[in-house]
This record gives sequence, structure tokens and C-alpha cells, in this order.
Amino acid sequence: MTTNDPDPKANPHGFAETSRDFLSYLDRFMDALEHRDLDTLIAEAGGPASVAAIAVDLVGGFCDAGPLASDRVAAIVEPVGTAFSHAYARGVRHFAILRDAHVPGAPEFDSFPPHCLAGSDESQLVPGRTGQPWAHGALDIPKNSLSAWVDDGPFRPWVMDIVARGVTTIIVTGDCTDLCVFHTAMGIRLWANATNRNVRIIVPTSLVDTYDLPVDFAVTIGAVPHDGDLLNATFLYHLRLNGIEAILSITVPD
Ligand SMILES: [Zn+2]
Repeated sequence: MTTNDPDPKANPHGFAETSRDFLSYLDRFMDALEHRDLDTLIAEAGGPASVAAIAVDLVGGFCDAGPLASDRVAAIVEPVGTAFSHAYARGVRHFAILRDAHVPGAPEFDSFPPHCLAGSDESQLVPGRTGQPWAHGALDIPKNSLSAWVDDGPFRPWVMDIVARGVTTIIVTGDCTDLCVFHTAMGIRLWANATNRNVRIIVPTSLVDTYDLPVDFAVTIGAVPHDGDLLNATFLYHLRLNGIEAILSITVPD
């Protein structure tokens, strides 16, 4: 570091002190999240035909290989598959798989290192999941940005169609909580609000996560730091603030 570089430990705004109460609230918010039983969720929706589930970016490039792969994200792949398999076994049939599948030179690469090029292994659903029945029948949605809601692909029409056909509950899972999951859930939330549709959107904490890039390391590689635990919690709170239900997990009877 030269004398002209900002001190990465500096805290001129004093957030550590001035936001102490809010950070304590955030701790309590996370502690207060509750498990929800899958059968109850389905019953509250009006039956399995009224439930949809979305997996966001459970692809190689965020789990196994490439500059954005994260063990934290890889760890939610199996729980999502298990939860969706339980839902499928109970009759849920509306599933969507959103996948990063970028064109070369995508504008997003100005913000993040090149990743998940269309056709590469990084853009494919993590191996081992495609054989599960829920995945076999899911709508496959490649995307070139954080949100498939804002492009001309099939995601927005799919959501509008299933809601028109009676879906009342949409479960959003995957990664990253503060990026693609947030924008996906918010796209649906804001559309439903704007058009006066009663859609319950649920984000289970055990089925989402985000990556961690500590400040010290990020500074050495010239990247933007990313506090995984804090940003995961902050964006679960932010989803809740916007009328999206953050829960701890979806449980099934033994
Ligand atoms: Zn991307």
C-alpha cells in the first residue's frame, strides 16, 4: 500500500458504531426465521397445482469451476434438489431453472469476471441434478444478466401464465441471495404488486446463499469485496422489507 491508497480498515462514516442497533436487529431477524412444513405450504397455496419453484444459477460456474465458483453456493445444490424432489412427489409440476449463459463480451463482464459462457459447462445445471424428475420437466431459461425477468426470454411469460392458471405460491431458491435471487424474486414481487395479484413469494434461507470475498483478499486482487454472511442476511431482510417471505427452511416429515 502507498500513502495515497485508502486504508481498507478505515471507517470514516462510523457504520460499525452508528449501525450497531440495526446490526443487532439483523442478528435477531435471522434468528427469528422459522421452518415451514412443505405440506402446509402446499395446502395454504390451494394444492400442488398452485405452487411453483424456481432454481436460480445452480450451474457449474457458481459451484465447480471458473472465477465465480463458491463452496457456499455448491453446498445448497443438493438441498434444493431434495426439496424440489419432495415437492414433485407431492404433485408440484411448475419448475423453472434459470441459468447464467452469457454471450462473449457480455456487458455484465464489466462488473464480474467473464463466467458462464453459453454452451460451456459453467452455464449448465450442476451434474447430477438434471436426472431428477423435477428438473427433467422444468422450464430451462438461459439468461445474459442477473435477472431473466427483464429480458425477452421465456421467464416473464412463464410466470404470468402460471399465475393466470392459478399459481399462488412461488418458491425462489439458488444464488446469489443479493444478486440473481434478489432480482428474480423482486421482478415477480413488483409485477404482482403493480397488477394487484396475490402471489406469495417464499425464499428459504437454507436454499439460498451468496459468495464470500474478504476485504483483505479482494484488495490484493483489485476486486470488490463481498461479505457473504452480512450480505446474505441483509438481502434476506431486504426481501422481507419488500413483502417477500424469508423462512429458515422447508421441512418434510421423516
Ligand atoms: Zn452472470
